[in-house]
Amino acid sequence: MLSADRDAIRIAQDPKFTRWLEQITATGGCTHPVHLSGSTTTLDAATGEILRYYDAREEPGERLLVRCRNRRSTVCAPCSRLHAGDTFHLVRAGLVGGKNVPATVRDRPRLFVTLTALSFGPVHGAGELCRPRRDGGTCEHGRPVSCHAAHDSAEPLVGQPLCRDCYDYAAHALWHAHAGELWDRFVIGVRRQLATAIGLAQSRFRDHARLSFARVAEYQRRAAVHVHAVVRLDGPAGPNDEPPAWGTANRLIDAVCASARRVLVRAPYSSAVGELALRWGVQVDARPLRANGTGPDDDAVAAYVAKYVTKGAGETGAGLDHKVTTWDDVDTAPVSKHVRTLMRTCWRLGGLPEYAPLHLRTWAHTLGYRGHILTKSRAYSTTYAALRAERAHHVGRVDIPDTVTDAHWRYVGSGHTPGAALIAADIAKDLATNSEITREVRIAGRREPGASSA
Ligand SMILES: [Zn+2]
Ligand SMILES: [Zn+2]
Ligand SMILES: [Zn+2]
Repeated sequence: MLSADRDAIRIAQDPKFTRWLEQITATGGCTHPVHLSGSTTTLDAATGEILRYYDAREEPGERLLVRCRNRRSTVCAPCSRLHAGDTFHLVRAGLVGGKNVPATVRDRPRLFVTLTALSFGPVHGAGELCRPRRDGGTCEHGRPVSCHAAHDSAEPLVGQPLCRDCYDYAAHALWHAHAGELWDRFVIGVRRQLATAIGLAQSRFRDHARLSFARVAEYQRRAAVHVHAVVRLDGPAGPNDEPPAWGTANRLIDAVCASARRVLVRAPYSSAVGELALRWGVQVDARPLRANGTGPDDDAVAAYVAKYVTKGAGETGAGLDHKVTTWDDVDTAPVSKHVRTLMRTCWRLGGLPEYAPLHLRTWAHTLGYRGHILTKSRAYSTTYAALRAERAHHVGRVDIPDTVTDAHWRYVGSGHTPGAALIAADIAKDLATNSEITREVRIAGRREPGASSA
């Protein structure tokens, strides 16, 4: 008999096995739960009377198990599913209401926007003909500048440069390092464009309207990040407020496109690289989400965004899920030549004092990009914390008003024994099959909103 099976039998014979199963179920079958020891005491705020006392010493193994809450499916599938579900609800609430967001947001100007990175050099693409050029020819390194193959999207060559020496790796890494700033300036630019279009002083925009968004970063095959975002226009008070009459979807589209074209960020000057002017790529897509059901479906958009938050840089083949600390780490990373060259570029440029503020070595594993995968503005919809609190409420951990809670918790370990891992995996599988959220995401995910991801 396998030792994991023997271990599972040992656990099943434990007198506290039922409670243990409850705990594992409460963590959703998390593959790497955190073990805590400690207690909470709930007191009546007025009298000091103890209303409730909970001590982890009563639990099996004298510890409380809590979720690892990792968003990446390669690290913990159950927690990443939960995170995707939360993202789905977070994005969806901003589109159609719910979770304290009024249903009227559905009738506001709402766009699904895709912004791409610049071109840093020609790469092989999937589809009919890769890069046909009748005149053919070679680059200064003697490599062909055209490719007449029809690559399948699964081919590793797709996304790799035609010539690695022509490809502008420094620009690629530095573009990633400034992607967050490009986004911030883009949002400011959209407000500015809207204000200008209706003859409003820029400083007065906030008295008339408010721009909310949720955006997700996705690595393309060429290992460059592009951005999908839901952008919504409300009245000045946010989701509960109607936008002014001039705030139409068409005006918003014009403002988005104009801002995306104009935004420019200058990378710090370096004698090694020169001065780079960084912009968004020419491929900008802004499509309206209509309340009447024409255009991309709201659920499909929410599911599309949710899908990306469970993927780490490693899973998409663009970088690694963990930081690199030495040049050797970069050399031995299980990545394509193209990605390795990008990581090396981050490492090299990260050693230059002029780029120190960009922390390129710290973010070499994500190819210089240091933003979160999902970012949203405050007024867009609910928060992950609120969704977690709501879930805690559902499982009976109700906050009692007018009480104080005194909690002492200590980390005592993490993970499962081999047998516990088997049982947890079974529970996770059961929960996944029964989970309505997962089903919603899966069904909606089949109908992608059709944004280009070349
Ligand atoms: Zn987990
Ligand atoms: Zn090709
Ligand atoms: Zn070349």
